[in-house]
Amino acid sequence: MKPAVPELIALYINGEFVPSVNGETFVNMNPFTNETINNVSEGAQEDISRAVAAAKQAFKKGPWGRMKLDERMKHIYKIAELIDRDIKEIALLESLDTGLPIAQTKKMVGRAADNFRFYAEMVKNRMVGEAYHVDDEFMNYTVHKPVGVAGLITPWNAPFMLETWKVAPALATGNTVILKPAEWSPLTANKLAEIVHEAGLPEGVFNVVHGFGETAGAALVAHPDVQLISFTGETKTGSEIMKNGADALKRFSMELGGKSPIIVFEDCEMDRALDACVWGIFSFNGERCTANSRLFIQESIKDEFVARLKERVDNIIVGDPAHSDTEVGPLIHTEHYENVKRYLEIAKSEGAEVYAAEVPSSLSKGNFVPPTLLLGVKNDMTVAQEEIFGPVLSVISFSSEEEVIEMANDVKYGLAGYVWTNDMKKGHRVAGAVEAGMLWVNSQNVRDLRIPFGGSKSSGIGREGGHYAFEFYTELKVIHVALNDHHIQQFGKKKKT
Ligand code: NAD
Repeated sequence: MKPAVPELIALYINGEFVPSVNGETFVNMNPFTNETINNVSEGAQEDISRAVAAAKQAFKKGPWGRMKLDERMKHIYKIAELIDRDIKEIALLESLDTGLPIAQTKKMVGRAADNFRFYAEMVKNRMVGEAYHVDDEFMNYTVHKPVGVAGLITPWNAPFMLETWKVAPALATGNTVILKPAEWSPLTANKLAEIVHEAGLPEGVFNVVHGFGETAGAALVAHPDVQLISFTGETKTGSEIMKNGADALKRFSMELGGKSPIIVFEDCEMDRALDACVWGIFSFNGERCTANSRLFIQESIKDEFVARLKERVDNIIVGDPAHSDTEVGPLIHTEHYENVKRYLEIAKSEGAEVYAAEVPSSLSKGNFVPPTLLLGVKNDMTVAQEEIFGPVLSVISFSSEEEVIEMANDVKYGLAGYVWTNDMKKGHRVAGAVEAGMLWVNSQNVRDLRIPFGGSKSSGIGREGGHYAFEFYTELKVIHVALNDHHIQQFGKKKKT
């Protein structure tokens, strides 16, 4: 089944689908065929200004912030219901646009709906203040207020899920939103706009401006009426954004790149460690921030583990992302494909052995990089230090716990990590020692919606998810009320001599 796509993807501003002010467009490509899917309105400074003005008006004067909480949450629940209704269509659009296999996009879309329901519940429970009746002089109480106009800038890997990760808490807490989706994956952002429209959100509350980072993205970051920026993307873009937003002292959340280790000790359950390792690097086409892209394997089990990895790599089903049995699809864009291929050349030039599966010749039009192992890698090689963001696993051997902790931490990133051992004392010890925001012991990357998500070092600042996102999208305000007049200090009442 092919999802219907419009010829032109419009911007969504103030409750209307509109072309960009300057009428410019850019092309949206299908990564499986490298044919054009459709054209996208290219938003820039003026479109951002219009969207910010609409969002500001909706925040300051519109009904959104003044609605009863239950009524606002009805809209949020409605968005979740409509996502569930259209789950198949959204998953198909996502696979068409990104090359992510359909079995994987379906799960992500389901989680996006859950996330709206999660924040509707959380906000109902947490949008309450606390009273501090310290003594008979004062009463103090706190209130949580939305921050204002929120600028949300998102990447192309898992776009729908990552967009809704930000949109759900931002809207539920009462902010108004401008979403700037990645230019390589615009389809599902507009589907979200259609859903928000159908859910009846007041005009100006949710806006989508497509366009390039250097123009539309930068204009959003620099706009003085945008109070916060939540960004997910590359580390170097994150630091650029922080520089550009510094003058206006914006509130930032930064979810950035990763080069996460999976540490496999000789005393692990090898079958399960192998499953986790293969899925952790090759699912989502390896275009995943928390991918376990560095395998540290203990010397004594290296040969057996690598032999079994090779078998798995040979068996992975590479193909059309729309087929339900496809495990690895094409990479998002030819530019990214070239970049990943460049890393394979670098690996060879640095002395690593490249072991890659065969890709059928029938797939030659698409951006297919085969599932690949880089063997004999040393931790100081480029391919062990830089984020490749493709289906490429760097394999490094180690002999002791101390050595592996040192190597795991000898990298600029600190997003995630995975530890495999049956010695739970060691599991806790190593998980505690690896410098990363999220560690999984004898587990794959699973996350309950209540749990914080985010990284340390160059992988990010702040956390998304759970009540962390609630705190980010709200302003905590304290109100002091005098209960008598005793504390008023007297000034300017003395007689001057
Ligand atoms: P990217 O940084 O190139 O782009 C992300 C977004 O930023 C896009 O919308 C882009 O248009 C915009 N942008 C680019 N330059 C900008 C600028 N100067 N000002 C404002 N906006 C700008 O990232 P990408 O290639 O789309 O995504 C892949 C990266 O995202 C990887 O590094 C991956 O690890 C990271 N990522 C991190 C997480 C996480 O939660 N930590 C999750 C997913 C992806």
